[in-house]
Amino acid sequence: MRLVLLGPPGAGKGTQARLLTAKFDAAHVSAGDLLRQAVADGSEWGQTAKSIMAQGALVPDGVVIEIIEKRLRQPDCASGYILDGFPRTLRQAEALSDVLKMLYAPLDRVISLEVSEDDLVSRLAGRRVCRACGTMFHVDTKPPVRIGVCDNCGDQLFQRDDDKEDTIRHRLRVYREQTEPLIAYYNKMGLLRRIDGHGTIEEIARRIHRALGDG
Ligand code: AMP
Repeated sequence: MRLVLLGPPGAGKGTQARLLTAKFDAAHVSAGDLLRQAVADGSEWGQTAKSIMAQGALVPDGVVIEIIEKRLRQPDCASGYILDGFPRTLRQAEALSDVLKMLYAPLDRVISLEVSEDDLVSRLAGRRVCRACGTMFHVDTKPPVRIGVCDNCGDQLFQRDDDKEDTIRHRLRVYREQTEPLIAYYNKMGLLRRIDGHGTIEEIARRIHRALGDG
């Protein structure tokens, strides 16, 4: 299964990508995670990328495209992958199409997760992430058993710099301006399925499986 998950920040792409990864035995390719890892590894453009990400703007296309292209060529992607947070611009989408043409491995589907703006803001502002294993919690809807501590591995939870309200609004604007045009792009290619992203994680997962003809 080669799948792109489109959707604004907070739509649940990461959560659904993890579920799909397990179901289809595919690799989870998260652009945000790869960028955060590259920043943590101290790459040469890391400091610039770090401040761009903290402001909720997009890292330059060339940087992201190079990272994703390298990742898609790794052996675990050969049997399929769930792309989460890439592409985010038309230029990235076109670069992805070119790479996949070279690899003779076209996309199977593009899922667009759709959630109202008010819901997105409250989901993101309450989100807490485990520093070690990446498990996500929410202060109201999915609180950890012990405040600030991951139920999964016991490490500390933190709030991402870009999950503060001003930055969230900016990220949503960036999504509308730069990423939303991809919905029309993939619709034209006949790959797009729109999914209502409201409801429980399980309800949304079921809608996605139905859209993939698998449930
Ligand atoms: P995410 O974890 O998907 O919310 O991404 C966090 C941040 O990483 C975004 O706000 C951007 O600054 C950067 N980022 C992630 N994916 C991309 C992308 N495809 N293109 C440019 N910047 C990205």
